[in-house]
Amino acid sequence: MTRAGVAILGATGSIGRSAVRVLKRHPERFAARALTAHSALDDLAKCAAALDVPWVGIVEPSGEVPAGWCQGPSVLTTAATLPGVDIVLNAVVGAAGLDATLAALGAGKRVALANKESLVVAGQLVMDAARAGQGSVVPVDSEHSAILQCLAGRPGTEVRRLILTASGGPFRTWDAERLRAATLADALQHPTWQMGRKITVDSATLANKAMEVIEAHFLFGVPYENIEVVVHPQSIVHSMVEFVDGSVLAQLGVPSMELPILYALTHPDRLDDTGVPRFDPVGASPLTFEPVRHDAFPALQLGVGAGRRGGAAPAVFNAANEQAVALFLDGRIQFGGIPLAISAALDALGGMPGSTRDQLMAADAAARDLVREHCRC
Ligand code: NDP
Ligand code: MG
Repeated sequence: MTRAGVAILGATGSIGRSAVRVLKRHPERFAARALTAHSALDDLAKCAAALDVPWVGIVEPSGEVPAGWCQGPSVLTTAATLPGVDIVLNAVVGAAGLDATLAALGAGKRVALANKESLVVAGQLVMDAARAGQGSVVPVDSEHSAILQCLAGRPGTEVRRLILTASGGPFRTWDAERLRAATLADALQHPTWQMGRKITVDSATLANKAMEVIEAHFLFGVPYENIEVVVHPQSIVHSMVEFVDGSVLAQLGVPSMELPILYALTHPDRLDDTGVPRFDPVGASPLTFEPVRHDAFPALQLGVGAGRRGGAAPAVFNAANEQAVALFLDGRIQFGGIPLAISAALDALGGMPGSTRDQLMAADAAARDLVREHCRC
């Protein structure tokens, strides 16, 4: 059997390191052909050694770069289009991952997409690029992997509703007053998932779930009114699909990203893998579901509203959120300042045009400026 060539963009991150472990378990099926990082030189060197990778690239190295490595702003798009790469696992965080997604699709690659911001910022452009050529987008996000598995190729006319599950994050039971002054340490204590800092904060505000609704809308072509979110604190049911006859299918498993990463590489096939702990229904019990408390987590409705509005609004939502989360991680705004900054950016800039990549990037830049100004940073 021929081995699939894989590029991991963002190899040093939480998803990237999980992907390195997955590839190491299956050397007969996958050959790592390229790895990238932003600046974590030593971590990238360890990943490259673990997989014996022929091409390594780093955007802004934190020290002296080993001989033979590439460096600079174009490493992501270069890695995404290398000959011999069949699958591009995009595990970069933020809108910085968009151009690599578009470039990979333009070059006819399968994009195993963890970088949900690509779809939030430019969902239409990304799906158009996938349809226009030989490329395809397969989700890594656990909710969307679950939906893909439940759909099993059935046509959209058979789907009545997608139900995305949300853990509720560390503040699931906190009241709005307490939430406004939540600390960084509080926000980084995710109850069920170990992830990078940005998505961990996004999970605490539920901005992450808004991004996932937009992601689902574009990936599966389901209208926003047919996508719902339910809180499921155990993170065992990864999402559900209700079909037109009323039957509901769910995908379950322990909360480990290694499973959806592997599935994104093998879809629609499955590979024998023992890296993820087996599911124990009795040990996982009870499985519970709750409504979202929208009053305490306004970022969810702000983001879904931006998705429904279309144009540049989702890009403004994303950029405002990225900037506000960066300020919160730096200790310069309070937790409650994140949705306030998003709301201010959407009010001022949500109507900007957004049909081309350059228009979307202009909206992205304007939103970041506005949030810095709004927060007087
Ligand atoms: P991390 O912050 O842990 O890792 C991000 C990776 O991207 C690192 O390798 C980092 O390099 C690199 N990177 C950061 N900024 C840039 C940039 N401007 N240009 C090039 N590379 C960059 O993030 P996660 O792994 O948690 O998340 C990655 C993506 O996957 C996000 O979009 C997230 O929403 C999504 N996702 C994550 C899940 C998870 O469990 N972690 C679950 C579902 C989706 P360096 O180390 O050098 O900084
Ligand atoms: Mg998710």
